[in-house]
Amino acid sequence: MSLNHGRTYLAIPGPSVSPERVLNAMHVSAPNIYEGALVDMVHAMVPDLKSVARTTGHAAIYIANGHGAWEAAAMNLLAPGDKALVLSTGRFAALWGMICSRLGVEVEVIEFGRHAPVDPAVVEETLRADTDHRIKAVLCVHVDTATSVLNDVPAIRAAIDAAGHPALFMVDCIASLGCDRFEMDAWGVDVMVAASQKGLMTPPGLGFVFFNDKARAASVSSVSYYWDWGPRSAPDFFYQFFGGTAPTHRLLGLREALDMIGEEGGIEAVWIRHDSLARAVWAAVAAWGQGGEMAMNIADPAERSRAVSAIRIGGGNGLRLRRWVEANAGLTLGISLGMNTEADPNGDDYFRIGHMGHVNAHMVLGALATIEAGLAALDIPHGPGAIDAAARVIAGR
Ligand SMILES: *Cc1c(COP(=O)(O)O)cnc(C)c1O
Repeated sequence: MSLNHGRTYLAIPGPSVSPERVLNAMHVSAPNIYEGALVDMVHAMVPDLKSVARTTGHAAIYIANGHGAWEAAAMNLLAPGDKALVLSTGRFAALWGMICSRLGVEVEVIEFGRHAPVDPAVVEETLRADTDHRIKAVLCVHVDTATSVLNDVPAIRAAIDAAGHPALFMVDCIASLGCDRFEMDAWGVDVMVAASQKGLMTPPGLGFVFFNDKARAASVSSVSYYWDWGPRSAPDFFYQFFGGTAPTHRLLGLREALDMIGEEGGIEAVWIRHDSLARAVWAAVAAWGQGGEMAMNIADPAERSRAVSAIRIGGGNGLRLRRWVEANAGLTLGISLGMNTEADPNGDDYFRIGHMGHVNAHMVLGALATIEAGLAALDIPHGPGAIDAAARVIAGR
């Protein structure tokens, strides 16, 4: 017997759950791409997109996933032989660095491990040592989806400024946008990359690069026609937004998702919802950990993302738990990413919960209670009171 027939919850950290409103908005025959409603809609949507990114700068939209947005940002700013400093806190910044390397960029990686955020003092020291200002850009992620660490973006900005270094500051918000508070302009971020399929609740296929005037002035001439952010951010003709045919249906979906964010009360309300839901997860994990090995991968709540939680379960039980909850209860949890060690080559001591985007209290409480059932079914040691603790967070008590 299985109890998995019913509405499923794909609780992986992207793609996130697509709201039916978003899917329904896409369920139309292709609109005209030369004039009319779609053209008007896109012109009106770009400011809404920028307001979610908290910037008055420029926005370029690509028909791409996050990797495409990474490459777009790198292509526009870094020429072969330029140098980039990559601040690695898990998996994703290093991958962005790899993309830069493939473009001929010299990449220096500072590794901060899998359990801690970027240390701004190390950034400052490294930039001070770069006396001839070889480093053109500093790259990091806001949230590393593998470790679920939340980097202190304003503190890294302050470190760059304290070193008196002119490097551009480039931040990956693919996991965090629409989940964790992010203020592009106020925090002094020069370039931010994002994608549609996580906090923005729209199926994969749209990548975004936001950039300020300083970054625009630093654009390289070696960029290819297709990736050039110039025409995309300031098109004379509609097709230049997308370097060709518009991703018509993705745009209709994104419009609906941005409307939903507006109806919720704007991006600040969305952040507050994600904060409550994340704290419910943290409370449950803390209770489970009282009677077993379970623990949040990031010990300090101030350093945790509200979009995703990487959780140590120990005993190689991550795979067993994921299999059980999916087969028996319709819940799909995230695999561990980059947490493998010699003793645990597949990273089965960890799993992740995506709580990003179109997620509410009953989904998170349901996921946590389902995990509790899995722990019981599989005889995985854990402390009591997790669901009670999570419910109290949701109740505000
Ligand atoms: C998901 C993710 C990416 C990669 O995005 P893709 O759409 O899979 O290319 C990059 N960075 C972060 C932080 C992510 O969460």
